[in-house]
Amino acid sequence: MRDVAELAERVAAGERRALARAITLVESRRADHRAAAEALLTALPVPEAVLRVGLSGTPGVGKSTFVESLGLMLTEAGERVAVLAVDPSSARSGGSILGDKTRMERLSRAPGAFIRPSPAVGRLGGVARRTREAAALCAAAGYGTVLIETVGVGQSEVEVGWMVDVFLLLLAPAGGDELQGVKRGIMEIADLVLVNKADGPLAPQAQRTCADYAGALRLLRKRPDDPEGFPKALTVSALEARGLAEAWDEVRRLVAWRRAKGWLASRRAEQARHWFREEVRQAIEDRLAGDDAHADRLTALEAAVAAGELPAARAAAQAVAPLFGDAGATGLDG
Ligand code: GDP
Repeated sequence: MRDVAELAERVAAGERRALARAITLVESRRADHRAAAEALLTALPVPEAVLRVGLSGTPGVGKSTFVESLGLMLTEAGERVAVLAVDPSSARSGGSILGDKTRMERLSRAPGAFIRPSPAVGRLGGVARRTREAAALCAAAGYGTVLIETVGVGQSEVEVGWMVDVFLLLLAPAGGDELQGVKRGIMEIADLVLVNKADGPLAPQAQRTCADYAGALRLLRKRPDDPEGFPKALTVSALEARGLAEAWDEVRRLVAWRRAKGWLASRRAEQARHWFREEVRQAIEDRLAGDDAHADRLTALEAAVAAGELPAARAAAQAVAPLFGDAGATGLDG
């Protein structure tokens, strides 16, 4: 573990290459790498002051443009910003929504910026575990703001919602009828809805969309950790870098309020509990899949369920029984 101690030291010193290596380590599926990754994460606590921001929006809405403009604004002000881009399409199709474009070219050259695609690994939960750990490493490396960007398709924004302090939803100007098209789940997560492309001929439409969402948000959500006026809808132009400073002020104001009221700490604690429970589930699954005898039994139980011979719940109970030393429950006939 000497290597881990050295790597931890270099990450904590803010060395970009060490951070990149550390993230590669947490993304690895090798068992010895996993052990090293856990040692590394244990050695590198997440600083309380970090601001973790989630950003979601459908492809084409302007996420990369927004992240680049915002990132440049912050790094030019002397801040250090890490960007993790979660791309759920990479696991499913082998291709990538994010990969084939040259994304955030200017930001990637900024000295205070660190940009990294976060691969979607395997099943649900795989995305989150790696991204969450990568975000923790970025924070430990002194990136005061960690932006986690995700494409607004599927389950990924719900998972990202569990690892950030504030969630931004980027929307395009649209007719009022499109309001229904945004999944309710995302609306419930979003603290700030930003209607992008509020420039040129699209500006009036953007204002209308923004007003529609402001009304809808107020009806949809009232949580105790929302200060007066939140969740909020604003217009921005990522392309012209307009409205970004105002939007960022709102983010800061929201986080400062939640911090002062104790909501930030309780939210983070709840998130930690959530991930602990997820890790327990994952550990059980890994144990079952990692052992040949268990894996064979799992395959047999699965076949029995598929054939209608066993109810799923009964089969699941039998599947996990050996993990708890319940050797009598291993047969398929129980
Ligand atoms: P992403 O797929 O969500 O990452 O979207 P991109 O950032 O790649 O942007 C998609 C397209 O929208 C590009 O052609 C951008 O130039 C354009 N775009 C992004 N932001 C703005 C904006 O604020 N105003 C206008 N007019 N176009 C924008």
